[in-house]
Amino acid sequence: MDCVIQTHDLGKTYGDFAALQSLNLKVPPHSIFGFLGPNGAGKSTTIKLLLGLARPTSGTASIFGMDIQRDSAQIRNRIGYLAQDPRYYDDMTARETMRFTARFFFQGPKRKIEDRIEETLELVGLTDKADRHIKGFSGGERQRLGIAQAQVNYPDLLILDEPAASLDPMGRRDVLEVMERLRKHTTIFYSTHILSDVQRVSDSVAILNHGKLIAQAPIDELLTGDGGVVYSLVVKGEGASTRERLLHQSWVTSVALKPVNGTTELEVSTTDESTAEARLLRMALDDPGTIVTEFGRHKYNLEEVFVQLVEGGSPDDNRK
Ligand code: ADP
Repeated sequence: MDCVIQTHDLGKTYGDFAALQSLNLKVPPHSIFGFLGPNGAGKSTTIKLLLGLARPTSGTASIFGMDIQRDSAQIRNRIGYLAQDPRYYDDMTARETMRFTARFFFQGPKRKIEDRIEETLELVGLTDKADRHIKGFSGGERQRLGIAQAQVNYPDLLILDEPAASLDPMGRRDVLEVMERLRKHTTIFYSTHILSDVQRVSDSVAILNHGKLIAQAPIDELLTGDGGVVYSLVVKGEGASTRERLLHQSWVTSVALKPVNGTTELEVSTTDESTAEARLLRMALDDPGTIVTEFGRHKYNLEEVFVQLVEGGSPDDNRK
């Protein structure tokens, strides 16, 4: 099986409003796949379609190679799902809540079920809170309990809808750590509008805006544009001659100039990192007319990429 989730031109309209348009997603096994987009982009709509809770108006999708409409029941047996705002019986303890959930899945011997619950609570870091009432739980603990519920059946795919959206920084950190820990057991597809979360834990990301997919890539690739690496060389003056010389090198693919306060930053993309590291700075220093003030490897922050990508889209994009 190549992909856990694969969609083909998947779409959903409400009246004449296209909440999702021609979505083509590929989620590889054992990835933590961040589904990123501003509010209203169509993330929850996609999740509802994948879970068989809404019907697509166009296109198809498969999960584990099975059709999301025809094989929905079979697919759902193998998925763990955490809704955006999980509700609990606040007077129950975490362990009681887990027993309640586990009963849907197992008829096995009681001891085995209790072991599974213990193990899952441990995985999400709630062992010491197992016998406390949920009403005293923090936002992060509630989310982690939700992940434990979703994970108790050992699903092959976890779908989490905005798992860290409403949390404070500590709660968010704990939830992201749990996701990282779960990676070896399952594939995680989660939606979020928080850029820094994606940067922290995802290895692949798809960006949705106004119902349209605008980018999909392994995160490192997205951050460096075309999959290469960008080096930053800051020189005094205009930098035009340095640029000219660099562009003659076979390992240089492009050089962008950014003037900053009497200096110029040259952003150099390359096909060959080791040659760039061995020669780039030396080449610049060897030119007596060039004064280098800074040299480094520039890593784009996802926010820059995201803003560039979503800029230009407008709400009218949803009208058909
Ligand atoms: P996200 O999860 O990215 O915040 P949603 O998938 O919830 O976005 O919503 C995408 C768009 O579709 C929004 O503009 C929302 O108002 C609209 N939408 C969602 N569900 C419905 C519905 N049942 N009827 C009409 N419009 C809807």
